[in-house]
Amino acid sequence: MPGTGAVQPTFNLSTPQVALAIGAHPDDVEFGCGATLAKWAAAGCVVHHLVLTDGSKGTWDALADTAALAARRQLEQRDAARRLCGPRAGETRFLEYMDGELESDVTARSRVARVIRELRPDVVLGHDPWKRYRLHPDHRHAGLLTCDAVVAARDPHFFPDHRLDHHRPNDLLLWEADQVHHVEDVSGWVAPKLDALAAHESQFESTMHAVDGAELDAFRQRITQRLAGLGAPYGFDAAEVFARISDL
Ligand SMILES: [Zn+2]
Repeated sequence: MPGTGAVQPTFNLSTPQVALAIGAHPDDVEFGCGATLAKWAAAGCVVHHLVLTDGSKGTWDALADTAALAARRQLEQRDAARRLCGPRAGETRFLEYMDGELESDVTARSRVARVIRELRPDVVLGHDPWKRYRLHPDHRHAGLLTCDAVVAARDPHFFPDHRLDHHRPNDLLLWEADQVHHVEDVSGWVAPKLDALAAHESQFESTMHAVDGAELDAFRQRITQRLAGLGAPYGFDAAEVFARISDL
């Protein structure tokens, strides 16, 4: 994008046939693009999830059984994908890197690129690695891996050991972007996002800051208001917004 001024965003991709959303932890995809995925799934898109870490550190309980937490979070993620996408929920895959220790190295890049070549998405969605002052290293590395794996997956000379056809998606959408390039109108699609987020019960305390019904209602209110605030400048009741890279 030239210059540093405001960019006129694009709106509402035509529904992709296949989408792949890549999150660092179970629940990141639902936070980042859940309503968009619900909308696309209802319109016929097959929606796949790829979660890079095991989520084993997602608790404030210093005595927690982290292996049990990781197992629980996989079940929660699968439930969330079903809640989001119903019969159009595609695969939910896990690379099971240690939570907090994800690296955007060439081995991980190969593994993510392999998934892109296997699932052949039209649109890939992920964390924006260039969001300023992003603290959590897994989110930075997950974003870099997503971008770098798209490059590797599209070109035939990267990772020939995959023995898979290369695959070039049409669009890459990055959530939590500082610079909005693309807006999805998700009016009417906030409810399935909230329902899917509610599948991540193990995260109610540490992420949603909600340990009872009233606090959970307040969490739902915060999310609903945030999406309303993102949509308001464009005349939508609710929106999810992204950086968009189409020159893939
Ligand atoms: Zn996360």
